[in-house]
Amino acid sequence: MNKNDRILVAGAGGFIGGHLVRDLREHGFEHIRAVDQKPISEWYQVFGDVENCTLDLKELDACRKATEEVTLVYNLAADMGGMGFIELNKAACMLSVLINTHLLIAAKDAGVQRFFFSSSACVYNGDKQKDPNVTALKEEDAYPALPEDGYGWEKLFSERMSRHFREDYGLVTRIARYHNVYGPHGTYEGGREKAPAAICRKVIDAKLSGTPEIEIWGDGKQTRSFMYVTDCVKGSRMLMESDFAEPLNIGSSELVSINQLVDIVEQIAGVRLKRKYNLSAPKGVNGRNSDNTLIQNVFKWEPSTSLRDGMELTYRWIYDQMKAKALRAQHRNAATQRHRIQISRPLSR
Ligand code: NAD
Repeated sequence: MNKNDRILVAGAGGFIGGHLVRDLREHGFEHIRAVDQKPISEWYQVFGDVENCTLDLKELDACRKATEEVTLVYNLAADMGGMGFIELNKAACMLSVLINTHLLIAAKDAGVQRFFFSSSACVYNGDKQKDPNVTALKEEDAYPALPEDGYGWEKLFSERMSRHFREDYGLVTRIARYHNVYGPHGTYEGGREKAPAAICRKVIDAKLSGTPEIEIWGDGKQTRSFMYVTDCVKGSRMLMESDFAEPLNIGSSELVSINQLVDIVEQIAGVRLKRKYNLSAPKGVNGRNSDNTLIQNVFKWEPSTSLRDGMELTYRWIYDQMKAKALRAQHRNAATQRHRIQISRPLSR
């Protein structure tokens, strides 16, 4: 890759997009266009030396603006969230097909050289994910197709569309299947957060409020692997810069149950909480892990940040955010209180 290439990062105001922009800058890329539909004040990370734009990439015209004079596109824009979001917002998740379709068309027309698509482990056949004692998922396990309803179907469709743009129009496309990504500068509240951030928030809440209890979605026995965000960014750049054209798992292969994930966060926080299991909450498939045979063969590398180390950094960041928020709320309440006392005093002559 040439350091003078203009690079579009779509979804740059989001979690992985923000980390990717940071990493590209650190690697000397000087012409980065960061695009997101959210107002810039709501982006997780903003860099002053980057061209930051607010555009709704569901619109073809917006995609044409975003891809003007661009050589490389990293497409990380999607309407998505954790299980609690994707199980209840299937239509919204599927509408991300407009982003992927229009961005591919605009990229082809603008003569973009390479296009990266962020797919997901949610494309894998659900029948292979029924047992918590999982057999890790290989790339070939996406077919015959039975992906996660809504979000997974959209990702699988857009994977194939990316492939056909390569075969029919010569646009070089790269497809990463991310397995749960976590880290600082991401969503930890509001309904779109994923398990690692949600568990950190709940443990911190319990600690700050002195209520030693935590609600866990499902029975806690469901298993997953979680990839630290810097590994995700590194793997994405390696794939983009490689000759490898097929979909590739980018995920950690360190398998844990949700109960074990809670154990880790409790150790970091130095607390032990009473666990309440909510069996009617969305919990996703019973077990999922990333088979990393192919990525090891292709790159002699795989994501390797330990869950303990990554969660330590994630916990600290979320703790600082929540502590700062609590302090701001305290100051606001104190100011309101002072104001009330002033106006309730009788006027002096
Ligand atoms: P995120 O929600 O933090 O970031 C996505 C960003 O896309 C958001 O900032 C959002 O505002 C933006 N966006 C949504 N619609 C848009 C539109 N119409 N125009 C412009 N921007 C729009 O999510 P993330 O975790 O950073 O995920 C990035 C990509 O990786 C997504 O494609 C996601 O599906 C994929 N992925 C993520 C994970 C994970 O665990 N985080 C796992 C598998 C796949």
